[in-house]
Amino acid sequence: MKLKTLEISGFKSFANRTKIDFMPGITGVVGPNGSGKSNIIEAIRWVMGETSAKGLRGDKMVDVIFGGTDLRAPLNRAEVIITFDNTDHYLNSDFNEIQIARTLYRNGESKYQLNGKVVRLRDIHELFMDSGLGRESFSIISQGRVERIFSAKPEERRSIIEDVAGVFKYKQSKEKAEKELTTTVGNLQRVQDILYELEGRVEPLAEQAARAQDYVNAKNEYDRLDQMRLVVELTDAYSQQAMVSQQVQMAEAASQQESARLAEQTQTLNHFKVERAGLENQRDYLNQKILTLTQQVERLTGEQKLAVERAANRSSVSQDLHQQMSRVNKRLAELTSHRVARQAEMTQATEQLETLQSELTKKAEQHPRQKLTLNEEAITDIRNQLVDAMQALTSAKNEQAYLAKTYQQNDAAANRLAIRLSSLNEKRVTQTAMIEELTQKKTVIDDRLTMIQNELLQQQ
Ligand code: ATP
Repeated sequence: MKLKTLEISGFKSFANRTKIDFMPGITGVVGPNGSGKSNIIEAIRWVMGETSAKGLRGDKMVDVIFGGTDLRAPLNRAEVIITFDNTDHYLNSDFNEIQIARTLYRNGESKYQLNGKVVRLRDIHELFMDSGLGRESFSIISQGRVERIFSAKPEERRSIIEDVAGVFKYKQSKEKAEKELTTTVGNLQRVQDILYELEGRVEPLAEQAARAQDYVNAKNEYDRLDQMRLVVELTDAYSQQAMVSQQVQMAEAASQQESARLAEQTQTLNHFKVERAGLENQRDYLNQKILTLTQQVERLTGEQKLAVERAANRSSVSQDLHQQMSRVNKRLAELTSHRVARQAEMTQATEQLETLQSELTKKAEQHPRQKLTLNEEAITDIRNQLVDAMQALTSAKNEQAYLAKTYQQNDAAANRLAIRLSSLNEKRVTQTAMIEELTQKKTVIDDRLTMIQNELLQQQ
């Protein structure tokens, strides 16, 4: 196996990506103090899985990332890639070339890659195990470590040399084997003690074994009987199950019948409900109608009463008028006789007047003016009496006509009232009959409703 290349980027003083090719032979790195030679060795240890920040001369692992200089800003990432030629398969891997890369970010994230594939730190350690290239191996001897080897005590130095020579590993194996041997001897002694102890318990155990055997036999018999009992119980259970199944079938059939009956009854119930609603409507309608008719009858009765009162009133008025009329007729007869008398007087007076006038005409030609005046006064007096008689006759005639007209009017009103009264009577009789009929109908509906109500309750 051979180290081929080392690529450093952002690690410690290597801000720029730097690649070192290790040619055949020995490679030496030369430079002044502080130029970064030790950083190369640390880069190799870091990429091969160094986990101690102190071992890399830092406090924290992120200290290995380039921290910046006066001329250059710090970086956020450090990466080292190392490549080995493994054609001799010194390392336990099928690859001819092995490339390991380690990357660390300032936020603490880190990853390892083995031939481009992300792997765990443990995978890296396992790769170098027993190869002499491990973390604590002396393949890499850092500055100061040589001095430590030389100034060490002989035992320590021997341990270091044994470690390098691979003896240390076997020594450790030997120590481990001796420890295991001691433990095994101790175990053997304990086994012998136990054996001794057990030998004393053989006899009681034989008795216990015999009892256990008895128990096993009894248990087997018990199990056999128990199984038989189970078979019997199972058979019983099967026959019961068959019986119960039959009962269930019967119950299901009965349930179906009941369901059908229920459906039928529900239908009847619905029919009754519809009928009840119709009858209730009819009843409400009839109630309303009865109410209206009762109101009409009450109104008509009131009107009839009023008409009767009016008729009574009219008849008393009519009687008064009849009396008045007989008085007027009497007065008329008186007036007529008076008029006849007056007419006779008037005829007489007219004849006298004519006589007097003809005499006056004759005497006027023969007698003085004074006598003529006296005769004229008598004539005027008779004339006045005649006018009075004619006026009285006219007013009596007028009064008679008025009374006759009033009588006629009252008579007609009385007739009208009588007609109205009989029509109201007829109406009242009809409506009373109608109310009776409706009340009968209502009673029938109420009975039917009560019956339906009872049937509904029963159905429910
Ligand atoms: P010497 O011969 O004295 O041992 P050297 O050549 O081995 O020196 P190193 O010790 O490898 O040099 O390098 C030290 C240098 O690395 C110092 O200049 C230091 O400033 C620089 N250095 C160390 N860590 C970092 C870092 N994280 N960022 C930048 N520079 C760093």
